[in-house]
Amino acid sequence: MSFRTRLFLTSLAAAVAAVLAATLLLSWSVRRSVIDRVERGLVTQARLASELLSRQGPASPEQLDAEADALSRLGASRVTFITTDGRVIGDSDLTPGELQTIDNHANRPEVQQALAGEVGVARRYSATVRTDMLYVAVPVRSPQLPDLGVLRLALPLVELQDQLAVVWNVALAGLLVGLATALALSWLISAVLARRMRTIAETAQRYASGDFSRPANDPGDDEIAVVARVLDESVRELGLRAADRALIEAILGGMVEGVLVVNEYGRLQLVNAAARRMLKVVETPEDRHYLEIVRHPDIAAQIGYALNGHATEGRELQLPLAPGSTFVARSAPVASGATRGAVLVLHDITSLRRADQIRRDFVANVSHELRTPLTAVRGYVEALADGVDPEQSRRFLATITRHTLRMERLVRDLLRLARLDAGQELLERIPCRVDALLAGVETDLVEIIEERHLTVVRDIARDADVVTGDPAKLHDALRNLLENAVNYSPEGGTIRLITRRDGDRLTIAVIDQGPGIPQSDLSRVFERFYRVDKARAREGRDPGGTGLGLAIVRHLVELHGGRVSAANGRERGAVMTVELPA
Ligand code: ADP
Repeated sequence: MSFRTRLFLTSLAAAVAAVLAATLLLSWSVRRSVIDRVERGLVTQARLASELLSRQGPASPEQLDAEADALSRLGASRVTFITTDGRVIGDSDLTPGELQTIDNHANRPEVQQALAGEVGVARRYSATVRTDMLYVAVPVRSPQLPDLGVLRLALPLVELQDQLAVVWNVALAGLLVGLATALALSWLISAVLARRMRTIAETAQRYASGDFSRPANDPGDDEIAVVARVLDESVRELGLRAADRALIEAILGGMVEGVLVVNEYGRLQLVNAAARRMLKVVETPEDRHYLEIVRHPDIAAQIGYALNGHATEGRELQLPLAPGSTFVARSAPVASGATRGAVLVLHDITSLRRADQIRRDFVANVSHELRTPLTAVRGYVEALADGVDPEQSRRFLATITRHTLRMERLVRDLLRLARLDAGQELLERIPCRVDALLAGVETDLVEIIEERHLTVVRDIARDADVVTGDPAKLHDALRNLLENAVNYSPEGGTIRLITRRDGDRLTIAVIDQGPGIPQSDLSRVFERFYRVDKARAREGRDPGGTGLGLAIVRHLVELHGGRVSAANGRERGAVMTVELPA
C-alpha cells in the first residue's frame, strides 16, 4: 500500500471517528434535553392541576373522571387520579365502567413517590395503552374527596420519538457533510504530504546513485522539511568530504614518494601509486595487514616501530624486489583526532646515488686524464733541465707539445660538456642542406683523409637532403663521428655517409671499415671517458681521443630532439647513426 493511500486512509478514519463521535454525542445530548424539557413541562402541568384541584376540587368521583377528561384535553396527556391506597378513581382514557376493572396502582414507582409527598417520574411500557410512556405523579388534596392522593399525567413517548427522529435526521445530515469534508481534506492533505515525501524519496535515490545536482529543497518548516534539509546538508557535507578525499588521493597519487598509512591495528589504509610500484604490490592492499603486503623485513620493522610510537630517521635500504635501486624510508606515528596509526614514506634515491657515482667517477677520470700527460710533461721538462743533446731536446719538446695539446683538447671538451650540461648552448633551428653539411665536415678533415688515402662516399636520398637544426652543432657532432671513423679506418679504406628518410625522422649513418666496437661496449661508448681500448689510451697510443667525443655528440643530438646509436657493420666496421626529426 502506498504512503499516500495509507496516509489518506488513516486521516480519513480519524476524521470519520471524530465526526461520528461528535454526532452521537450531540444527538444523545439533544435527546436528553428534549426528554428533560418534556418531563419538566409535564411536572409543571401536574403541579398546576394539583394546585387547582386542591382549591376547588370536584365533589364526587364522577366529577373527578370528567375533570380528568377536561385536563387531558388541555394538556394532551393522559390524566389519572389515584387514591391514597392506590385505587384508580378517575382516568381520561377510561370510562367509569372500565375503572372498576383496572388493577391497583399503589406499587407503581411514580405513585409510591407521590404518596411519599414527592414528584414521581417514571418511564416504562404501559400494558394498558401498549406503548412506552412517560409518567409524572404529584400528590393532590381535595377537600371534598379525602381519599384522593395522587394526580398522574402520562405522555406516550411515541411523540417524543417523532421529535427525536427530526434530531436524528439533522444529525445524520451533519454527519454526511462532516464525512464529505473529512474525505476532501484527507485527500488534499495526503496528496500534499505524499508529494513532498515522494520528492524527498526521489532525491535520496538520486543521491544514492551519485547524482548530487538537484537537492530536495523542501520549502516547509515541519518535520518533513527538517528531514529534507538534513538530507541535503548531509549530502553537501559528504560531497565536500569526497572532494577532500579525491584531492588528497590526487596529491598522493601524483607524488614521486611512496606513502603508506596503516591504522593502529596495522591494517593498510592508504598505499599510493608510487609505493605500490616500489614495493611491487599487485593486489588491493587496503584493509590488509601490512605484514601481508610489505615483504621487506626492514620496512615492516620500521612500520612496527612507528606503531609503537617511535619516529625513525631516514634509513637507506635496497629492496630485494627492486635490485639496483636505493630507497630512503622514514616512518612516524600518526595521531589525528581518534585516528591512530603510522605513516611510512619511501623515497627512491637510485638516480641520486647513480648521479653521485657518475660525479665521483667523473672527477676520478678527469684527474687521471690530466695527471697522465702532466706526469709525462714534467718528466721531459726535468730531462731537458738536466741537459740533453739537441736531437733529444727536439724529440722531447715534440712530445711535450703533443701532451699539452691533448690536455688542451681535454679541457676544451670538458668545458663544452659543462656548457651543454648547464643548458648554456642555445639551439638555432634553420633548414640545412645535408650535402653542404657533410662536405664541410669532410673539408675539415681533408688533410688526414688524404694522408691515410681514405675515400669518403656521400649517399643522400632525395627526400633526405634537408634537415632542420643548428648547423654549427650538427657540424660538430658529424665531425666527431667522421673523425672517429677516419681514426679507426684502415689505410686506403672507404667511409660511407648515408642519409635516409624514415617517416618524420632523418638518419645519417657514418660507416667505416675499421675494427668496429665490441658488442658489450656498444651501449657504453657514449658515456664520458668510456674507451673500448683503455690500455691503448693509457699508453698514449690513443689516436688523440679524450673519451668525451661521443658524449658530446649525444648531447648535441639530443638537444635537437634526436638520438644517436652505435652498431657494427655486417662484416666489419662501426656504424654510428644519428637520428633527427626531419
Ligand atoms: P675518443 O675521443 O677517445 O674517440 P669517443 O667518445 O669519440 O672518444 O669514443 C669513445 C670510444 O668509442 C673510443 O675510445 C673507441 O674505443 C670507440 N669508438 C668510437 N668510434 C669508433 C669507431 N668508428 N670504430 C671503433 N671504435 C670506435
